Amino acid sequence: MVERVVILGAGMAGLAAALTLGKRGFDVTVIERDPAPPELPIDDVFAQWERKGATQLRHSHVFLGRLCSILHAQHPDLLAELKAAGAREIPFPESLPSPLRDHFAADAQDADMTFLFSRRTTLEYVMRRHAAANGRARFLSATGAIGLSFAEEKPLRVTGVRVRDAAGERDIACDTLIDATGRIGPVNDWLKAAGAPITEEVSQAGILYYTRHYALHPGASEPERDKTAGAGDLGYLKYGVFPGDNGRFSVTLAVPEIETELRKIVVEPEIFDRICNALPGVRRWLEPSRSAPVSKVFSMGNLANVWRNFSRDGVPHVLGYFPVGDAAMRTNPLYGRGCTISFISAALLADVLEKESDPASRLIAYEARLRTELHPFYLSMARQDAMAIRRARNERDPAHRPRLKARIIRHFAENGVVPATRGSLAVLRAFMRGFHMHEPPENFLKRPAILMRVLAMWMRPKFLKRHLYPPFLGPGRAEMLALAERRE
Ligand SMILES: Cc1cc2nc3c(=O)[nH]c(=O)nc-3n(C[C@H](O)[C@H](O)[C@H](O)COP(=O)(O)OP(=O)(O)OC[C@H]3O[C@@H](n4cnc5c(N)ncnc54)[C@H](O)[C@@H]3O)c2cc1C
Repeated sequence: MVERVVILGAGMAGLAAALTLGKRGFDVTVIERDPAPPELPIDDVFAQWERKGATQLRHSHVFLGRLCSILHAQHPDLLAELKAAGAREIPFPESLPSPLRDHFAADAQDADMTFLFSRRTTLEYVMRRHAAANGRARFLSATGAIGLSFAEEKPLRVTGVRVRDAAGERDIACDTLIDATGRIGPVNDWLKAAGAPITEEVSQAGILYYTRHYALHPGASEPERDKTAGAGDLGYLKYGVFPGDNGRFSVTLAVPEIETELRKIVVEPEIFDRICNALPGVRRWLEPSRSAPVSKVFSMGNLANVWRNFSRDGVPHVLGYFPVGDAAMRTNPLYGRGCTISFISAALLADVLEKESDPASRLIAYEARLRTELHPFYLSMARQDAMAIRRARNERDPAHRPRLKARIIRHFAENGVVPATRGSLAVLRAFMRGFHMHEPPENFLKRPAILMRVLAMWMRPKFLKRHLYPPFLGPGRAEMLALAERRE
């Protein structure tokens, strides 16, 4: 008998799981609380698709090299549809810092470091259409899961889901339930209430997200990719320009939670743009001759790094249940990893479900593979965010003098790692493999040859590496606050 898989949630992870398992012959039903996407042109989809269940939908998204590699290897037909809808692949040479452009020599692994640029609405809309059109999954839209049913066994075994739609409530039986209900999905709480002692590792991202979208004027082009960085970290503010599809782009300002003054005002469109115009890498995108805003400023908080444990000492807490995407783990969105994690977890799960049939062995094998592949990203993000939160706090205190260890680490990063990634293709490639999620992010410094190059750069006198520092990223905190708070 064909295994009946029910997937809760048609966001990024639910769609990735539906595509992957549908191709491998599972009987897939996707249950999604929000209405189906409207049949409209892609820009109208952005404006009109009602997606209360995925409130990050209209925030900037970038898609990493590992996700592109998975699309090339496993879903080339989907990739072709995405490109036809306006999504763009940006190969490694096009994202090189200018000091490296002139000496570039191609390498086979460069293909792994291709970005995909697209609005999240475009990506999700095309994925959804693709999964439904190929008959690989049936979709029940505007249908919310409101509870689970279990067999009277220990550990708990999930046997189905109770749903509610316009016609009323009913039960849907399944052999396997995949939880793709995202960052605020209810399933974890249901399992805990039913007696599964699921545990969580949680650390705060420490930032709030503010995003505004813009359209290039007809005939206008994006600024040339040169020395000016389109993203930067000023301590009291992180920012990035995110090129999209079909002449659209967005800007995200990530404000530390502790920056209460800035948080209050940045949501005003006029102040948002004023701040952007003080950032050289953003200003040129916003020139009135080039583009105009097409949205309000969207804001989002409650951002955390989360890792969930579904077994202990090799004993599963629940059977017939598998979390993918944000339901399994989350990381600070600024690093653009969530959708890639959705695809990786869906692919790992499909492999395990295909190879194993015993429900307990399945959960243990899946969790072990998740831990090996993805837990290092959780740990690294938690460490990095803790450092960023400390830095933001210190930025507010003019009397603050960092300790020696903190000064050395910062000096090494600013005068070793940064110029090395801007001056050596080998170092940049090693760094970007972690950035694009092909290997744990901190691995690059564990390679002796790379570490030697970074250390040599650190030791090099400043006047010999002046050209390898990034250009001016933006004003200091006091200057920016004065500029933002000025009443016109
Ligand atoms: C501000 C922000 C910016 C981000 N930027 C990036 C980026 O640049 N790159 C990147 O890769 N990732 C980014 N992410 C992360 C990315 O958005 C998520 O990791 C990704 O959406 C996870 O997919 P998911 O399917 O697990 O959850 P979601 O995409 O959130 O989907 C969950 C789905 O479950 C449905 N659902 C919930 N409850 C029920 C229920 N009871 N019954 C039925 N359906 C239900 C919801 O309606 C929703 O459709 C960002 C996240 C945030 C918050």
